[in-house]
Order: sequence, then structure tokens, then C-alpha cells
Amino acid sequence: MGEQGLIEVREITKRYGSKKALDRVSLVMREGIYGLIGENGAGKTTLLHILAGILEPDEGQVIFEGQDIGRYRKQYNHTLGYMPQSCTYYKDFSVEEFLLFMCAMKEIPKASQKERVERVLTQVNLLDERKKKIGALSGGMRQRMGIAQAILNEPRILILDEPTAGLDPYERMCFRELLRELADGKAILLATHITQDIEELADQVIMLHRGKVLACDSIGHFRGENLETVFIEVINGQ
Ligand code: ATP
Repeated sequence: MGEQGLIEVREITKRYGSKKALDRVSLVMREGIYGLIGENGAGKTTLLHILAGILEPDEGQVIFEGQDIGRYRKQYNHTLGYMPQSCTYYKDFSVEEFLLFMCAMKEIPKASQKERVERVLTQVNLLDERKKKIGALSGGMRQRMGIAQAILNEPRILILDEPTAGLDPYERMCFRELLRELADGKAILLATHITQDIEELADQVIMLHRGKVLACDSIGHFRGENLETVFIEVINGQ
């Protein structure tokens, strides 16, 4: 990995009509877990969608391994895992059927699909549930399946939009353990309102407010402080 980082967001601006959702956002992400916090409407999902290649920025670029992802889309998709904020899964699919379907969507060769599905199910501890219909899964199991589909292609960039929302404290703890295990060799961007997840997991903290990055610091910078309080102080200082 070069000095420039694994993935770089350069001066991204995104408007919805006259609303500027992102305003000249720049970030450099290396391997590690990045916690993204921001109030409702701060622009988190918009930023994640741009990084996931779902939305095009109006200005600026996302650079992966030195290349603009706009011109390098297919290769970038092969190295990207994305777990959206809310997914409407096919409830009548079994977990295994859904993951096999996602393998096909991700163009994973047929010969390795079964082995790949079994491997991710083991990683997220859902192997015993593989025959269950998605509609019959608990919230925690469904979140784990969301992670499973995101890591099928062994991504180096993993983007997670509020992955622990709605989970009970025990499930959240399990989810954090899973992310720690998955973090090796990846850049993980985790958007959440749950600052405890960031305090316990993240290497870096990104604070977004009204479409602007107010801070991007190592978690060590905030040690011993309550991240929620720090964030409120930072936005009040604007
Ligand atoms: P939340 O925490 O509530 O999920 P967020 O930080 O993810 O919020 P975004 O969803 O990125 O914020 O929205 C940023 C801004 O852009 C908000 O003001 C939102 O109303 C606006 N916005 C988002 N999507 C659209 C859209 N499709 N059309 C118009 N405005 C939009």
C-alpha cells in the first residue's frame, strides 16, 4: 500500500437539486476500521453510496489503487463489499440460496460458489441456519447475513451502513467481534449513530456535519473522552 492509501476521496461534492449533501469531502483510507459519525442528514449514506459506486459525485473523484473508480468500475466492484442500511431480501429464499444468488451477481465462478458460501457462513456463524428462510431469521442473524453477502468476494474495501442498528447489546457485541476478525487487510468504513461501536472498534474516526468533514483522527486522539460529547462540541463550535 502506497503513501496515498488504499482508497482516496478527492474533493467530492454531491447535490440533490439545490441541496448540497456533500461539500468538497476529502479522505484517505488505509487498511483499518473507519467509524463515520454525523447527525441525521449529515451526508453519511450519500458518501457511502458514492464509495460503493451507486451514486456519481457532481464533482471530485474516488481513487482506488491510483485509479478513478468511475473509469475502473468493474475491477473496483470485484474488490468492494457493501452492506446497505436496510436491505429488502427475498424472504422466501433460504440463507444459502440467497448467498448463491449473490455469488452469481458478483460473478464469482460457479465452481467456487458453494465453497465460498460455506466459508462466509462459517465466518459469520450462520452455518447451522443456512437452510432457514430469510423471513424466519432474527434481526441479528439477518445482519450477519448482510455481512456474509458483503464479504463473498473477499473485498478489500468493506462499506457498512448502520450495521448494528436494531440489535440488542449481546448481538452488537457479537457483531463487533465479527468485524474485528474481518478487518485484517481491509479498509472498513462503518457509518453509525452508535458511538460505542466506534469507540470499541474503530482505528480512525470521521466526523461529518452538513456535508463537510469536520475531523478525521485516530481513535487514540479521543481516548478517555465520550465520543458523542466530543462530536456535539465539535459541531457546536461550527
Ligand atoms: P441519516 O443519518 O438520517 O441516515 P445521512 O447522514 O445518511 O442521514 P444522507 O441520507 O446522505 O444523510 O442525506 C444527506 C442530505 O441529502 C439530507 O439533507 C437528505 O435530505 C438529502 N438527500 C438524500 N438523498 C436525497 C435524495 N434522493 N433526494 C433529495 N435529497 C436527498
